[in-house]
Amino acid sequence: MARTPASGGGAPSRAWIAKELFSDEVQWCDLTDKDQRMVIRRQVSLQKWKVGRSVSAIFSMDCHCDILTLEGNDPEPCSACQKLLSLHAFQVAIRCQIPDDKKMKFVPKAYRDPDLGQIYLKYHGVWELVEQASEDLPDDGQSPYLKFAQRCADGTYKSETLTGMVQALVLKQKRVDAGKSSRNMKYDSSFDQFCDLLSSISKRAYLTFQKHFGGSGL
Ligand SMILES: [Zn+2]
Repeated sequence: MARTPASGGGAPSRAWIAKELFSDEVQWCDLTDKDQRMVIRRQVSLQKWKVGRSVSAIFSMDCHCDILTLEGNDPEPCSACQKLLSLHAFQVAIRCQIPDDKKMKFVPKAYRDPDLGQIYLKYHGVWELVEQASEDLPDDGQSPYLKFAQRCADGTYKSETLTGMVQALVLKQKRVDAGKSSRNMKYDSSFDQFCDLLSSISKRAYLTFQKHFGGSGL
């Protein structure tokens, strides 16, 4: 389940379904949006299994739902669900390696679930942080927080001091929220070095900086 955001599997490929519905020569990119949606609907309806993420289980589309078992025993999966283990497409799917986090951005849009993604972000309270799209935001409407996070993730920001500063800021706020003091907090070593350098140049400047961003005591 951690390998894919898909809701199920085991259906023929979109290319195969498109050929079956239209013609042998048809290419996916030649189809209109409406026809592509039709192929996708058909693919979902032909799935052999569905992924039940909330219960961490995979069910056959032919699941019997009821299973007889002795009192006190945990029920086994039904015979239809157990048969999935001998289905070639299922065996291939469960043997796939979990892709590296860095490669997750290459998952084709067609296989992502933007609605689920948005709900997930809201659930974790980070929606506002990553997608504060509004008219007054510059150029592409992306939140500066989103840009910052993306650039940290793709390694554009090489400065460990900068990322250390953000870590310090997040940690400091966490401690404040928990009613704890930010004294004796441990900081990233490059951020510590930066603080030492700044305080050696100007103690006053460092104290102002520390008040906002945290940093070791003088
Ligand atoms: Zn079942």
